[in-house]
Amino acid sequence: MFHPVPYAWFSHHANTKKKIITEIMPNFRRQQRSVVKFLDLYEVNNRFDKNIRAAIDRVLSSGWYILGEECAAFESEFAAFSEVRECIGVANGLDALVLALRALNIGAGDEVLVPSNTFIATWLAVSQVGAIPVPIEPDPVTFNMDPARIRGALTARTRAIIPVHLYGQPADLDPICAFAASYGLKVIEDAAQAHGARYHGRRVGSDADLACWSFYPGKNLGALGDGGAVTTNDPALAARLRQLRNYGSSRKYHHEELGVNSRLDEIQAAILRVKLASLDADNERRRIIADMYTAGLADVPIGLPSMPDYAQSVWHLYVIRHPQRDVLAQRLADVGIATVIHYPLSPHLQPAYRPLAIPAGSLPIAEQLQAEVLSLPIGPTQRDDETKSVIQAVRDCVSSL
Ligand SMILES: *Cc1c(COP(=O)(O)O)cnc(C)c1O
Repeated sequence: MFHPVPYAWFSHHANTKKKIITEIMPNFRRQQRSVVKFLDLYEVNNRFDKNIRAAIDRVLSSGWYILGEECAAFESEFAAFSEVRECIGVANGLDALVLALRALNIGAGDEVLVPSNTFIATWLAVSQVGAIPVPIEPDPVTFNMDPARIRGALTARTRAIIPVHLYGQPADLDPICAFAASYGLKVIEDAAQAHGARYHGRRVGSDADLACWSFYPGKNLGALGDGGAVTTNDPALAARLRQLRNYGSSRKYHHEELGVNSRLDEIQAAILRVKLASLDADNERRRIIADMYTAGLADVPIGLPSMPDYAQSVWHLYVIRHPQRDVLAQRLADVGIATVIHYPLSPHLQPAYRPLAIPAGSLPIAEQLQAEVLSLPIGPTQRDDETKSVIQAVRDCVSSL
């Protein structure tokens, strides 16, 4: 099945885009008027063209490319934005999670509770430190870790919980943090999809011991390459993380522990500073699109995202559910609407996780979601007429099923 997403994610220039499209999708010309991309990263970044080039120039002429003023400035600006004391820039979101676990001394033999339905990086980080990811099923309405299911997964080896704010919507942190506190567990928020989201009015990332962020280009705050960060209110953890990301060293050529090289480089930091200034406005634009979808699809027999009172989502993704998801996705593709599945195979069913031997059928909610979820196009540059085309196409395609 041809899926029209790759060109939207990976193209860098309109002409390249057109060439790729007409080569692999011969009837593109006929459909050209109605194509709605999933997320047009060229358009997203083109809005900042002048300021991004100025930021790169500034780094070029500074002669300082790693752990300099830009990274430090971004760290303090992102900490202020996220309403936390400390931000530590790292190389990517996966490293942020790995370093967070290491800073909390979680490793071999430990168990860490993770969502059964998340991007695999949440699990990979746990595996990378030698600990075991223990899946917790989601609340099928919010898609997020169900606090009521945590107790049943607890063992003598449980050390931490990693709630994920999936699709940009805050997980229900209060009961998770309260449970963790009463059992002496650590909490790490995987906020890679939720820059700027609020839980009970507070920014996500300020409740747990540590929060982890990704600045992968497609995230709500995206670099022009890889990037990540850990935030915390704990200065001692922050100091440990600064050391861990830089060869275990806080004084050049003196190494306190077995650190790694995982740093946010000056160019990406400078670019992120430009884009951070528009993040609230971009998230607001996503919210308007999500509200249009929710209003325009309210009477259609599909599952729509829930909006609990405690959560102010930043709509990284707008995810609908339908039992005939694959047919629906194909029909939408046929009329030029790009969709993506987040995610088609839960981590426990991935070949990489065969060694954990978690049998198929044992996590029924995650397995049902993987068969039914479909992400509609959304992004800060998506126009109202595009959103309306998507709504009309979903209405038409669903009624044709
Ligand atoms: C993107 C993502 C990550 C990993 O971030 P990278 O920067 O791609 O390494 C981790 N967790 C979740 C939930 C993500 O969406």
